[in-house]
Amino acid sequence: MKVLVGVKRVVDPNVKVRVKADGSGVETANIKMAINPFCEIAVEQAVRMKEAGVVTEIVVVSVGLPQCQETLRTAMAMGADRGILVETDVDVQPLAVAKVMKAIIAKENPQLVIMGKQAVDNDCNQTGQMIAALMGWPQATHISKVEPAGDVANVTREVDGGLESLTIKLPAVVTADLRLNEPRYVTLPNIMKAKKKPLEVIKPDALCVDVAPRLTTLKVVEPAKRGSGVKLADVAELVNKLKNEAKVI
Ligand code: AMP
Repeated sequence: MKVLVGVKRVVDPNVKVRVKADGSGVETANIKMAINPFCEIAVEQAVRMKEAGVVTEIVVVSVGLPQCQETLRTAMAMGADRGILVETDVDVQPLAVAKVMKAIIAKENPQLVIMGKQAVDNDCNQTGQMIAALMGWPQATHISKVEPAGDVANVTREVDGGLESLTIKLPAVVTADLRLNEPRYVTLPNIMKAKKKPLEVIKPDALCVDVAPRLTTLKVVEPAKRGSGVKLADVAELVNKLKNEAKVI
């Protein structure tokens, strides 16, 4: 079974983001970037399935700047077999990524597509769902377990009320949630090995995909600064303040 995994390059989640001076977005110049954490979980899942003998090939795909090659190399150091960079300097939105993935799926013919449940830079949580819609394939989002079994996959989804077990027909799209697994650390020998793995670079035009943004960002602003807290003597004082100052009860 061939698996396709989408990996996005994002600002390292440990870095405190800063809004650009012109309010057009967040600063990414000279900022530490990393593989999106949910994409890392998606790659780990594919690698575990390969180690279990269920998966034969893992192809990782990234859409974005040339620097996304580093992200693909990280995924290959984790165990992915090869990478595809769809290179563009456009700030791609979920629909554009989904269209690119559709074109790659047509070329690669995978039985399973694993995406992260969301990218931590835009928190969209849309791309996996859009791919499934464009392909007309079944989807299982926010999964904490996936077990392919012949031409179906048994999945467990994390939903508000608890866990949902589903059997979906393959080919399908699944999106990885936090508890699916704990990604491995990449080792130096594997980083070295990953440098030799194949990495294809193509342009969206070659896939006949228009990646132009459909949404316009009007302005990005810092959240309002929080005032300092106060310590109250007792519950009566708290109730009094909530009633008469905050006027929320
Ligand atoms: P989003 O819908 O933007 O929250 O992203 C959800 C998932 O879609 C991510 O975890 C990735 O697996 C995939 N994805 C989003 N953007 C990209 C991108 N530019 N390149 C590759 N995969 C992406």
